[in-house]
Amino acid sequence: MAQVQLEHISKVFGEGADATTAVDDVSLTIDDHEFMILLGPSGCGKSTLLRMVAGLEDPTSGDLLIDGLRVNDVEPKLRDVAMVFQSYALYPHKTVQRNIEFPLKVRGVSKAERAKEAERAAEVLGLTDYLRRKPGQLSGGQRQRVALARAIVRRPAVFLMDEPLSNLDAKLRGDTRAELVDLHRRLNSTFIYVTHDQVEAMTMGTRVAVINKGRIEQVGSPQEVYDAPASTFVAQFIGTPPMNLLPPGMIGASDVQIGVRPEHLRVDPSGTITGSVRQLEHLGHEVLLLAEGDGGLHLTARIAPHDQVPGVGDVVRFTADERFLHRFDAATGVRLP
Ligand code: ATP
Repeated sequence: MAQVQLEHISKVFGEGADATTAVDDVSLTIDDHEFMILLGPSGCGKSTLLRMVAGLEDPTSGDLLIDGLRVNDVEPKLRDVAMVFQSYALYPHKTVQRNIEFPLKVRGVSKAERAKEAERAAEVLGLTDYLRRKPGQLSGGQRQRVALARAIVRRPAVFLMDEPLSNLDAKLRGDTRAELVDLHRRLNSTFIYVTHDQVEAMTMGTRVAVINKGRIEQVGSPQEVYDAPASTFVAQFIGTPPMNLLPPGMIGASDVQIGVRPEHLRVDPSGTITGSVRQLEHLGHEVLLLAEGDGGLHLTARIAPHDQVPGVGDVVRFTADERFLHRFDAATGVRLP
């Protein structure tokens, strides 16, 4: 059981003209047994944030608390956290069983007890049949699960995961996502999970912290973040295809930028938004219509495949219900009430 608190955490790499602020005054409380996702584009500082919780990186300023205790100066191995990396980091010459047992061996746990724990973790992750193999004889997905099993046997209060699924193919990624959600439900641990994949964020997290340039733009449940993005950055980062942003003044006041999700943009001859169809993507269950309006405006609409689909080159009018319009400050990009 563990709550993790980040209080005004910053991390600056380098000095003077070479200084990079990777994490900029982040405050966030991750509750006991949460599955918190740190989501953001490459370079936004999410891995650095996670590495600071693990103790692999020291904050330049701010406090880090686990269960109310300041751990800034506590060694990684004494923090009761386990980190799972994208790169598995398995020992190639050891069997799966020995790899899983390793953290317990370091702790001086007896051989019989180690074997029992490894077998239990292997069972949870469907690895029982592979315990005698070496990592080289496993698929990427199986290796990833070995890395997870090795973290599980430690029974940490906090699991830290840095893009653990990025080496897997689409099918395995889907399966392992479901496994992780299940694992979280069964273990009494807090999960902090770094990804740039918004599908992972939407499907696994109890809450998502969206990070941009070292700062948190929004924290909320996946649905909250999707339904009411706090900024144009979040609006465009969450959702595939991303939200359409209309030029300020196209609808309403000139200091307001309107956003519309592609599923809310309807083809309607009386609509006020006009675009010429550039491309149609037939996905089976839906058609993505990509259009270009005045001034290089790019529009995406999702249409049902059996509706009348316009042709490439057609000029189409669109509309959206008032209740589906998102309003942002045109200057700052911040959501307006
Ligand atoms: P990615 O998804 O690409 O891994 P990220 O969001 O995890 O990106 P970080 O790895 O946390 O980003 O890096 C944040 C910023 O800090 C980047 O600009 C990066 O170049 C910089 N940075 C990270 N580690 C160091 C380091 N050891 N020395 C100098 N700069 C660093």
